[in-house]
Amino acid sequence: MRAWQANIRTVTPYVPGEQPKGEHLVKLNTNENPYPPSPFVKNAMDEMDYDKFRKYPDPASAVLTKALCEYYRMEEDEIFVGVGSDDVIAMSFLTFFNSQKPVLFPEVSYSFYKVWAELFRIPYETPALDENFLIHTEDYYRENGGIIFPNPNAPTGVFMPLSEVEDIIAHNQDSVVIVDEAYIDFGGESAAGLIKKYENLLVVQTFSKSRSMAGMRIGYAMGNKDLIRALNDVKYSYNSYTMNMPSQILGAEAVKDDSYFKETIEKIITTREKAKKRLSELGFTFPDSMANFIFASHREKKAEDIYLALREKQIFVRYFKQPGLDNHLRITIGTDEEMEKLYDFLEKFLSS
Ligand code: PMP
Repeated sequence: MRAWQANIRTVTPYVPGEQPKGEHLVKLNTNENPYPPSPFVKNAMDEMDYDKFRKYPDPASAVLTKALCEYYRMEEDEIFVGVGSDDVIAMSFLTFFNSQKPVLFPEVSYSFYKVWAELFRIPYETPALDENFLIHTEDYYRENGGIIFPNPNAPTGVFMPLSEVEDIIAHNQDSVVIVDEAYIDFGGESAAGLIKKYENLLVVQTFSKSRSMAGMRIGYAMGNKDLIRALNDVKYSYNSYTMNMPSQILGAEAVKDDSYFKETIEKIITTREKAKKRLSELGFTFPDSMANFIFASHREKKAEDIYLALREKQIFVRYFKQPGLDNHLRITIGTDEEMEKLYDFLEKFLSS
């Protein structure tokens, strides 16, 4: 090995879901929203003056922060915006997890947590879930350098009642507790209401799922102003112009259209509840999901075989080839038409 090679930071990167190209495929593999963003977003995009691209964007993303503050009734120093919640969470690891003690996150959860911990050289421990994919709050009663978990959890879709979320926060007032609410709008109850009560709580959300804007990369954190100030200090020490100008403007427009937001979510929830029924009839079992996906395993056929057969028909679902997860498929809730194509194929394939 050459001397300089010893100084390279080596990491095993996170592997994002596949982004297949093509017209007629059914894409149920990365938990995107099947509906377009609000028409407010389209109008603002049509009116956008491209000459403005000459200038740097507002480093504070004030238009977007203000829209979010009005929506959530928070103060402007209680919200931090970033380039997708991935950016917000990565920045949070860097900002809040600087103890020698291990950070805790569930063994089955968003696989990026482990990658950030390794990238930033943060020690971590991963309490197991039980056989029903439930998180046990007592596993988080031990000494730690911080806690993060998604609620609903990913890739299981399981929602932890707010009383249990609060139990974890209440037992850990010496660490920062981050609740990753990427999927909260699909029926769960947000922990944002606990921010006034717990100064160590950070709630992270995203525009990628419920607001149909994964491509614009918008995420945000809500928390006590001291936490938000610390996040901003790290951000400005790293890259001041994280969020581009169109994302700031279009994100703010999306937030203003609450009736479209609610309507889209209702449609997805209705399709999800139908999917639970159809998938059970087809012989699948799954933990009850409160997200825009279902983590299903078949009573007879192997998940990998189903995944490959679906893929051949241009129907993409997510398959994790990892011990403990490798007999499950994570199926994103699409439109009713897309889901019908999935059931039609599964019906034929599973009876063959
Ligand atoms: N948290 C969880 C639990 C997720 O599943 C995702 C989506 N991959 C993210 C955060 C990041 O989403 P984004 O960066 O698009 O906001």
